[in-house]
Amino acid sequence: MGNTITLKRIPDMVLSMSNGLTSVFISTFGLSGSILAKTEQEKKLVMYILEKNQSILGIGFVDFDIGSMPWDLKNLEDNKKFVFSILDGIKNKTEWEKLPFTPNEEMLNRCIFEFKNMISEMKSEDINEKEINEWSKNPKLNDLIKNGFPLCPSHDVLMTIYGCQMCTEWQ
Ligand SMILES: [Zn+2]
Repeated sequence: MGNTITLKRIPDMVLSMSNGLTSVFISTFGLSGSILAKTEQEKKLVMYILEKNQSILGIGFVDFDIGSMPWDLKNLEDNKKFVFSILDGIKNKTEWEKLPFTPNEEMLNRCIFEFKNMISEMKSEDINEKEINEWSKNPKLNDLIKNGFPLCPSHDVLMTIYGCQMCTEWQ
């Protein structure tokens, strides 16, 4: 049960979360990241995480490897800093008033800590360019990009190919 986020090269580095905690982590990441993302590529990184929507993909079916996130190999260090700023935003409870509940900070802080460690350890060799290219070809994703990266009017989070993660998961 639950979901895991991995860094394949280092099997010991695994972020395991219950299904409920996964949804909370994804939503808080989306709330913080949607405000901070400025470039097209930063927005894609946030959308990739928000696509991990258990109401669409199935409860306990949103495992992923951090090497499959749409990183830009040429700007990997800047990309990492961007994700760290999102994690700081979660710690600062960015936009938490939009959540229909109060997250358990202790549990969320463990996710932030472990996710940050994994991304710090990640190197260019861990990046799965083939998967990123496949992901980037999705016509629904490209429609969202053409439409200027729409935000959910209720939650101000980036819409994904599955709609708004918060509208679908917390209804
Ligand atoms: Zn929404």
